[in-house]
Amino acid sequence: MSLPLHPEATPGAVPNLLFDRFRFVLNETSHPGNVGSAARAIKTMGFGRLVLAAPKAGADVLRDPEAVALASGADDVLAAALVVPDLESALKGVSWAVALSARTREYGPPNAEPRVSAALAGQHAAAGEAVAFVFGSERTGLANADVERCNALVHIPANPAYSSLNLSQAVQLIAYEARLACLDAETSGAAAAGQDALATRDDVEGMLSHLERALVELDFLDPDNPKKLMTRLRRLFAKSHLEREEVNILRGISKHILERKTRR
Ligand code: SAH
Repeated sequence: MSLPLHPEATPGAVPNLLFDRFRFVLNETSHPGNVGSAARAIKTMGFGRLVLAAPKAGADVLRDPEAVALASGADDVLAAALVVPDLESALKGVSWAVALSARTREYGPPNAEPRVSAALAGQHAAAGEAVAFVFGSERTGLANADVERCNALVHIPANPAYSSLNLSQAVQLIAYEARLACLDAETSGAAAAGQDALATRDDVEGMLSHLERALVELDFLDPDNPKKLMTRLRRLFAKSHLEREEVNILRGISKHILERKTRR
């Protein structure tokens, strides 16, 4: 939304505004072939924004022969992919981020099935927000800290005895579900709704660090032994789909606590 993604992309590469609000983020991908296949996977479903956070091969991955070969007719999406140094940069301006994990997690954002999660992501996009699907690396997947940066978690309910899909195949499956969600939003007219007042991820992150400082001041949070408090609060806020105004109220409370403490 606020980040000019793919400044070098041909205007109109993704002519549909709704589809253009989705970005597919590959974190620390090792195999150039998977990057090319992911470009193809998203283009076949009508999307075009591929973001590579800290790819192992660096920005050269965009020109890697294996990546180019597997992108096939999606060479434009591959060439326009944005390479950024870390996941935080990849999520700039995103309001709704969905982590894809081959493993179920004890902590972190609420877990949902691909179809349910894609439908919810579609609603956010239809409301004018930038949405991201975040995929982990081939060998280690997403770290817990990466998953916690997201608002939702999706585990594709595959064979429990062998549930780890190839990265680009996981991208394909989610891109398909996101396509169905977009087509549904278009036919129901939801996509006509403009920007709404939902808080962005950046707003919520800013509020959380403000709140954390206030909780430390109150001696409610021990910075040397934080336990899972911030993780739990992050999860709580992820569930409540905060509006910008609500974030401002929470920031106001934290500000007051900090001011009163320093006055004493
Ligand atoms: N060995 C890794 C798996 C990596 S697969 C691990 O144990 O986590 C590479 C990426 O593909 C994952 O990080 C995830 O984003 C996606 N992926 C693979 N299988 C998936 C599944 N069943 N559900 C959701 N995402 C999956």
